[in-house]
Amino acid sequence: HPFSKPQIPTANVRVVCRIRPMNDKEKKAGATPAATASTERKEVAVVRILAGGTRQVRSTFHFDDVLTSFSSQEDVFRATLQPLVGQVLAGYETTAFAYGQTGTGKTYTMEGQLDSVEGRGLVPRTASAVLEALATSEFTESSVTVSYLEIYNEELSDLLACSDRHQKLDLKDVGGGRGVCCQGLSEVEVHSMEDILEVVRRAQEKRRVAETRVNARSSRSHSIFTMKVKCQRAVAGGELENQGKLHLVDLAGSECAKKGGLIYSEDVSAAARMLAGQEEERERRSINQSLLTLGRVITALREGSGRVPYRDSKLTRLLQDALGGRCKTVIIATISPALASVEETISALSYAEQAA
Ligand code: ADP
Ligand code: MG
Repeated sequence: HPFSKPQIPTANVRVVCRIRPMNDKEKKAGATPAATASTERKEVAVVRILAGGTRQVRSTFHFDDVLTSFSSQEDVFRATLQPLVGQVLAGYETTAFAYGQTGTGKTYTMEGQLDSVEGRGLVPRTASAVLEALATSEFTESSVTVSYLEIYNEELSDLLACSDRHQKLDLKDVGGGRGVCCQGLSEVEVHSMEDILEVVRRAQEKRRVAETRVNARSSRSHSIFTMKVKCQRAVAGGELENQGKLHLVDLAGSECAKKGGLIYSEDVSAAARMLAGQEEERERRSINQSLLTLGRVITALREGSGRVPYRDSKLTRLLQDALGGRCKTVIIATISPALASVEETISALSYAEQAA
């Protein structure tokens, strides 16, 4: 049966890279792309021109899959989460991360443009694929709930909270090896694509309001969409109940992992505005704890030795049960093709390649 617990033959972490198309500003700069993809060889080549010289340094990075600027949202879904929908129904935890510099398409990849069917990203596509899979499965009873939260400055907030009040959430250990729970987090039952879109719109509105208070907040925060799936069916001698989870994570900009890194190197005016406030200056200098710890956790899991530092950040504590073991993880490294971003592109690709 496709939804009984299967032996999982493939690797637990898959890393794919997605290059976004050049935007108008980059095209006007007349830049030939610095990053190019070969889907056949599953590699990305990056060309760098050394300061003052014409010498080009070419680096090549290898991934499980490479998506080009021509890849559609559906192509990205097929290459990443579509094969894992069955895992969720079988009771496993599955996580996808979008990792990359601010402006490279993380949010486009995860949420996308909701108003057109083609524009929709992984959150609506995967969530509705889970609902469809349930409808055609042998499970006789099921419930699907979603939550959406944000981690900013190591503080959690509920993106689906009904009240306007900004309420901090706490993580609590559940005990009995059942991981952590986020106390007071809203859980919304969903039955259709319409329900899912409604949830994403609500979260977008909350983030839009928060962004007006703290400039460039969204590039420094992590958004985590979680779908809990419970399903039951009768089996010989009783009931089978599976409880699976899907986490879709839009990470803070990769530049936030660096001390003193600018929020977005090209956005000089935003950076200047940020420098205006002391509070923001403090934040700008602080390293994003969750982003750094995530890298360390993935490294520790890959090397399979030593302590895995789950407890060192909110993000990894929250996802502790979903990282490692038999859970599946997909990392989507998003990059810009532009020459102006080449240093950050190389650093993001190195981080992602190491995770594989
Ligand atoms: P990030 O979340 O990484 O900061 P965004 O998702 O906001 O980046 O993308 C920046 C801009 O580029 C947005 O206007 C977005 O619509 C556009 N964009 C990103 N990726 C693509 C893509 N693959 N195709 C078309 N437009 C894209
Ligand atoms: Mg974004």
